[in-house]
This record gives sequence, C-alpha cells and structure tokens, in this order.
Amino acid sequence: MVYQGSCHCGQIGFEVEGDIEHVIECNCSICSKRGSLLWFVPRQQLRLLTPEQNLSTYTFHTGRIKHRFCARCGIHTFGEGTDPSGRAMAAINARCLEGIDWSRVSTKHFDGRSL
Ligand SMILES: [Zn+2]
Repeated sequence: MVYQGSCHCGQIGFEVEGDIEHVIECNCSICSKRGSLLWFVPRQQLRLLTPEQNLSTYTFHTGRIKHRFCARCGIHTFGEGTDPSGRAMAAINARCLEGIDWSRVSTKHFDGRSL
C-alpha cells in the first residue's frame, strides 16, 4: 500500500509505502500540543514528492529528531530520526495521509512525557 500525504497548502507532498497496523498517540511536550498521530516506518519507505527545501525543521532537547513542517501553512508532516539500533526512521503524521480508514486503525498510547 502506498499512502499519499501532504501538508495543508501542498507545499510539502510525500508518499509512504507500508501497511498501517497502529498509530502512536504520544503525550510528550510537542506531540500533545500538535495532536499528531504517528506512524513509524523505516526512512526509505518515505519519498518526498516536493523539493527538500520546502521543509522547515524544528529541533529541541537533544536535537536528535528533526521535526519537519511547512512554514507556509504550519502543518507538521513527519519527523526524522534513528531507532535505538541506529536505523533511519520516519515518524509520519498519519493525520496528513489520504484515504485512511480510521475505524480500522488502532491507537496506542505512548508515555513520551516520562522519557
Ligand atoms: Zn503547507
């Protein structure tokens, strides 16, 4: 399955390959404020359809996660980082994807605030 994703204004477009089994609702300081539901995939399953320069980047705390968002419409599209084994990962904001049947996707709560 290939999902199409974008920010609100379309300045950032991307596609993600894979099957969504569940999304993560995290209570950390940034996830709780932006209300994202995250789908974690290996970075190579994410393909940008718009120029890299259209991405704005926000980092905080350790700076290990690059939070990518659109500076025009303000929508957070995905984050980039590495998993504990060093593999490049992307945390897709599943709210930005087209065609998700939310009645079939379960939500797992993650206590990111306690990390
Ligand atoms: Zn935008």
